Amino acid sequence: MPEELEEKILSLLQNSPEGFLLQSELWKSLKSGSREVSRSLAKMERRSLVKRESYREGGRKTYKVILLKKRPKIDLSDVLWCSCFTCSDLSRCGMGQPINPEMCTKLSMSLRNEYRKIEKENEQKKAESGKDKDA
Ligand code: SF4
Repeated sequence: MPEELEEKILSLLQNSPEGFLLQSELWKSLKSGSREVSRSLAKMERRSLVKRESYREGGRKTYKVILLKKRPKIDLSDVLWCSCFTCSDLSRCGMGQPINPEMCTKLSMSLRNEYRKIEKENEQKKAESGKDKDA
């Protein structure tokens, strides 16, 4: 599927430390046909997801595929505060079920605690920036 291939390309580019890969490397990594990869890259270029620049590798012409928009990495520790991650009722919980997020005390408590934590951090930041101005 073309969308699947695009996702794989984006993922490889996202994890590339330089933020780009050679088109020839992409074919090898994806184990896909060069025509298929070229077609996907052309589509992605039109949508401004990637940019291709001509590149010579050992006398052979290829392209440098550059990722234009890096997706922000989600750090798991940013969401682990949510009670659902450790809930024993997770498999039975759902909208319209007897156990559901709308009625859940555990979820409400974890949301409230996280909100208070963020509020406290913001107050501390504000207080610290006030101290800096006074000094
Ligand atoms: S909403 Fe409540 S019951 Fe449902 S998975 Fe989350 S913590 Fe568990």
